[in-house]
Amino acid sequence: MKTKVLLGHRRPADGKLFYHATACPSPNFSTLEGDHHADVCVVGGGLTGVSTALHLAKSGISVALLEAQRIGCGASGRNGGHIANGFSCELTRMEKMLGFEATKMLWQMVDSYLVDIDQNILTHDIQCDRKFGYIYAANNSYQMRELALLNDRLKSKYNYQKTTLLHKSELGKFLRTAQYSGGLFDKTCGQINPFKYLQGLVKQLKTMNVKIFEQSPAQAISPGSDLTVHAEKGRIKSKYVLLAGNAYLSCNTPLLEDKSIPVSSFVGVTTPLSRASIQSILPRDVTVADCNKIPDYYQIIAGNRMLFGCGINFLGKEPKTFRKIISSRIKRLFPQLTSFELEYAWSGLISSTTNKLPHIGQINSQIYYAQGFSGHGVVLSGLIGKLISEAIMGNSGGFELFSRIKHKKLPPHPIKSIGLGIANLLHKLQQDFK
Ligand SMILES: Cc1cc2nc3c(=O)[nH]c(=O)nc-3n(C[C@H](O)[C@H](O)[C@H](O)COP(=O)(O)OP(=O)(O)OC[C@H]3O[C@@H](n4cnc5c(N)ncnc54)[C@H](O)[C@@H]3O)c2cc1C
Repeated sequence: MKTKVLLGHRRPADGKLFYHATACPSPNFSTLEGDHHADVCVVGGGLTGVSTALHLAKSGISVALLEAQRIGCGASGRNGGHIANGFSCELTRMEKMLGFEATKMLWQMVDSYLVDIDQNILTHDIQCDRKFGYIYAANNSYQMRELALLNDRLKSKYNYQKTTLLHKSELGKFLRTAQYSGGLFDKTCGQINPFKYLQGLVKQLKTMNVKIFEQSPAQAISPGSDLTVHAEKGRIKSKYVLLAGNAYLSCNTPLLEDKSIPVSSFVGVTTPLSRASIQSILPRDVTVADCNKIPDYYQIIAGNRMLFGCGINFLGKEPKTFRKIISSRIKRLFPQLTSFELEYAWSGLISSTTNKLPHIGQINSQIYYAQGFSGHGVVLSGLIGKLISEAIMGNSGGFELFSRIKHKKLPPHPIKSIGLGIANLLHKLQQDFK
């Protein structure tokens, strides 16, 4: 690398976040000042950065982690908490792009990382409200047929036996809405409180002497036999750097900027619901996402509240009406839910790629990056952190499988902005007609 890589960061939108308001206070970490040294410098304190740091530290590699604001202020502390298997991209599409064998390997890596998450929760006694049981709900007969095919494919070709197809009447035992034609139940997927999970991992980092700095946006990386990561008042010299800022990072490298876009998505949490109300909507306490390209997703979380996520803004903005959109989606799905308010509501940035698969790779032999989980990163971010740490330690098999995925370039400005504006308009029209 001959020239400096310039970095910036996007400020997370304000909002009333349930997770932040109800978790135990996080420890404050100091701002980076002066010169420091580590084997690896991680830029970004979300699940990707923290997971990478943890895996490296467990192997005795020294790590410094720079967070622009507070740990967990990005997508990892403001997502829906859905623990879902696989990817945002459909399996059959992946098979066409990558071939069956590679797709199967990727799928199985994600599946086994789900076990790692539960192991982390157990080993480190992370109280993060893990619940099992997940339903992919079909909005129409076409989606139901697709779910039936997926179920067969998972069982016959992926040796995955944890799903059950639910026809409309069976689905009614799990959730009470007239909206769906049926669904696919997965017994190992479900939900966590992602912020509490992240806090649990950070607690481990603290015991391992990882240097963590908050309110310290990385501004640039300059070359040398050791790289130098610059922040306002300090610098970190390291052999390797991981850029784990995802949708909240901006970077002057076209390799990163041209392959994914930050889109915003919205989440609301209701006031506590009575037991009778919960029984009238989700009697089996499952976590649900529908099969639309931009899905509604929801579940009952701690305190008998409903968390509901929906909608997207392709320009990465937070429309003034987003609270109203969430409330009206809940009312439309569950008209029997007559008395609730949205007590918490917020938006967050999702890093989205054109094929909805993660964009993982290296800018050069020393700088790694991970982005583009396309709204499916609670499990993937941890897995990718593990694979990047393995690659840094010389075992790059898993990392290479991901880094071989080809990503299309997004068109340059102003075509990109016009295209995203049109996509936004179409999405809004669709919402209005729902
Ligand atoms: C509203 C919403 C709902 C979602 N729901 C789900 C879901 O239910 N299930 C699921 O699987 N996925 C979901 N996702 C996606 C998932 O949250 C993300 O894929 C995942 O959290 C990404 O983790 P990350 O660590 O890569 O990024 P982030 O958690 O965004 O962390 C990046 C961090 O880097 C920091 N940073 C950026 N630039 C710099 C810099 N220059 N210097 C230092 N630090 C910097 C940021 O401040 C931020 O803290 C959702 C996302 C959103 C936004």
